[in-house]
Amino acid sequence: MERLVEIEKFESEESTEITLRPDAWDEYIGQNQIKKNLGVFIEASKKRQEALDHVLFFGPPGLGKTTLALIIANEMNANIKVTAAPMIEKSGDLAALLTNLEEGDILFIDEIHRLSPAVEEILYSSMEDFRIDIIIGSGPAAQTVKIDLPRFTLIGATTRAGMLSNPLRDRFGMNFRMQFYSPEELAKIISQASNKLDKEIVHEACVEIAKRSRGTPRIALRLLRRVRDFADVADEKNIEHSRTQYALNELGINSHGFDEMDIRLLNLLVGAKGRAMGLSTIAAALSEDEGTVEDVLEPYLIANGYLERTAKGRKATRSTYEILNIPLDLEEGGLF
Ligand code: ADP
Repeated sequence: MERLVEIEKFESEESTEITLRPDAWDEYIGQNQIKKNLGVFIEASKKRQEALDHVLFFGPPGLGKTTLALIIANEMNANIKVTAAPMIEKSGDLAALLTNLEEGDILFIDEIHRLSPAVEEILYSSMEDFRIDIIIGSGPAAQTVKIDLPRFTLIGATTRAGMLSNPLRDRFGMNFRMQFYSPEELAKIISQASNKLDKEIVHEACVEIAKRSRGTPRIALRLLRRVRDFADVADEKNIEHSRTQYALNELGINSHGFDEMDIRLLNLLVGAKGRAMGLSTIAAALSEDEGTVEDVLEPYLIANGYLERTAKGRKATRSTYEILNIPLDLEEGGLF
């Protein structure tokens, strides 16, 4: 039987992105610990001819959560339905999704922390007992109808583990935190993608893009496409190192991989002269919403030691001053 892949979530990326998505286990680079564990669980459930236990991935956007879900479906030879929490507005929407599943199917819900409490409630019983209770009608005439569901696997993805309710989190048999990618891993991803794009790229250029991608494959692939545009316009057969450097500088991406927004945030923190800044103040100063600052901007800066979260708010670190080439005077130095 041919595997069915249904993608309902809005793809914000360009349509070419989909062709760069690896679909084989071996093409999925990095996240080695997660792959190792998942490999064992997949093999075990295949041996027992059972559906895989429910899986939760968490980590910043673009680190490969959706891709990994698709690859799991491939490995399990299962159908997968991909959707996102904002598209499941009412309990009826979820009921419709669940009752259309078949034995062994995978349901992928992105941004799972955004489900409404009523929808979450239905998800609990479906995950645990493979059964849902639907209330038909209202008032005294209301009736509860129990519907049995096939054994399916829910794969949830979230950028915010903290926003997931405990009962929901507890119902996942496996929890995986995605890591930022090393420049070497990103260079491999870039080289693999350029093969698919049928455009050769020299190794140094892969490394150059990798270093400037905030540890994130989605950014690396976006930069690769932009650099390819520069090379194509210049009629260059291969993507060379110098063209890559030129293109990335033109795009305003600095050699530490920070983009303009990162730099604005770091400057803001340094400007606070050692005092902690609240999330709402930072968001207002950057004209961004708090969620974006917390989920998209901060994780990479924290992972690399350029920002510290304290009880009072966010603070610059020694490395922040170093990276921005701002001398630490004695008074500020004493604050670390
Ligand atoms: P998320 O769901 O975490 O936001 P995606 O799975 O959509 O991220 O990944 C973004 C893009 O990066 C995908 O289109 C895919 O091509 C690429 N990608 C992500 N992780 C990997 C990986 N480990 N190896 C190769 N390509 C990857």
